[in-house]
Amino acid sequence: MKVTIFGTGYVGLVQGAVLADVGHEVMCVDVDAAKVAALQAGRVPIHEPGLAPMVQSNQAAGRLQFSTDAAAGVAHGELIFLAVGTPPDEDGSADLQHVLAVARTIASHMTGPRTIVNKSTVPVGTADKVAATVGAALAERGVAIAFEVVSNPEFLKEGAAVADCKRPDRIIIGTASSTAEGQLRELYAPFNRNHDRMVVMDVRSAELTKYAANAMLATKISFINEIANLAERLGADIEAVRRGIGSDPRIGYSFIYPGAGYGGSCFPKDVKALIHTARSTGFAPELLQAVDRRNAAQRAVLGERIVGHYGGSLRGKTIAVWGLAFKPETDDMREAPSRNLLQALWAAGARVRAHDPAAMGEARRIFGERPDLTLCTSPAEALQGADSLAIVTEWKIYRVPDFGELARQLKDRMVFDGRNLYDPAIVARHGLGYSCIGRPPVP
Ligand code: NAD
Repeated sequence: MKVTIFGTGYVGLVQGAVLADVGHEVMCVDVDAAKVAALQAGRVPIHEPGLAPMVQSNQAAGRLQFSTDAAAGVAHGELIFLAVGTPPDEDGSADLQHVLAVARTIASHMTGPRTIVNKSTVPVGTADKVAATVGAALAERGVAIAFEVVSNPEFLKEGAAVADCKRPDRIIIGTASSTAEGQLRELYAPFNRNHDRMVVMDVRSAELTKYAANAMLATKISFINEIANLAERLGADIEAVRRGIGSDPRIGYSFIYPGAGYGGSCFPKDVKALIHTARSTGFAPELLQAVDRRNAAQRAVLGERIVGHYGGSLRGKTIAVWGLAFKPETDDMREAPSRNLLQALWAAGARVRAHDPAAMGEARRIFGERPDLTLCTSPAEALQGADSLAIVTEWKIYRVPDFGELARQLKDRMVFDGRNLYDPAIVARHGLGYSCIGRPPVP
């Protein structure tokens, strides 16, 4: 099928590559000319396992093209996907300016029927807004052309986005149109062979399903972090508690790791947007507000702990930081807990030596050149001259460090672990102090 995707970010680019890989003819359109030029030259601007070779091979086969030409994009695709950003507005609501701009663009160029499929995460009612925008723009042109607006929220996880798109757990389709449903069944058929993963529902329910999924996951994280805070104060070990509750199949082991709070481009903004949506109906979303507040507090825990350990000031101290991306296997630092940590360390007067396997370019872009930040090319280099180590992202490369070397390098022999990566007894055996989340100090 001929598909056009507006927006070549984490969602649009991955979905475009995966659809091309099963034989669809995909055109990806973006307003970012530099990004499009890089992609046309076969350079993939984001770190996502398996993505670059898939983009390059499908480009070479002529099934995947990149363009800034919106008119060409609208002419190309019978299905037109919206995969543009929906960043938070100042009041926490989702900013729909990019979504509605693409809706206007589509309407100004379309000459035949189109199915507009929204993959961006958008508040309930947005499909109606997109339909009204397209309808109004067509009326202005004085033409009547049939179109549908379908909700097809995306559930990929950054760091595993290609695998998730190739083998989705479910494909949510929000539409009342049997024609649109048929088109999407045909499009996704290669991903729907083993069993029917398609869940078809009304458009508002599909829009809410995406927020409900992210809010549930954020709730699990804030829940375990709340219990971790309690465990610390009660002399219990959250890792034992986590295994203890995870064994109940009604709870399960996944997504109950305590840590330095959730981050990324989705959970924080989507929880806030859902809170905003709830309030706009006159309903007070007590649980969601608590989830958001717990997370804000949790993201401060690691910094507070380090500053507290040093009696309130880090002047003259150098802290090595392992991990900057908001989670492993991505270069994305949007809303990353590392950013809270770095700000707290700098505010207390510390110098930082940081390492991340993928997010160094992003860190350079965000923080620029500053005398209190050294970006290091290896975890070992970050330790050189450091007083203590803080771990924020659970990349595999940090999981089995040479503890003897850590003890030799770190002047204050102290490890602050925001991801509970190590066995406290093993760390202690090497003469290192170890402060992690929700676990009692080793005697
Ligand atoms: P992103 O910021 O990485 O990419 C968005 C892209 O859209 C950018 O390249 C931008 O230049 C482009 N764009 C903006 N306006 C445009 C226009 N008028 N025409 C063409 N392109 C335009 O965003 P993302 O992370 O891919 O997320 C996109 C949407 O998907 C958001 O609503 C997000 O909440 C949702 N989502 C994201 C993820 C994720 O893990 N990143 C997962 C599921 C859903």
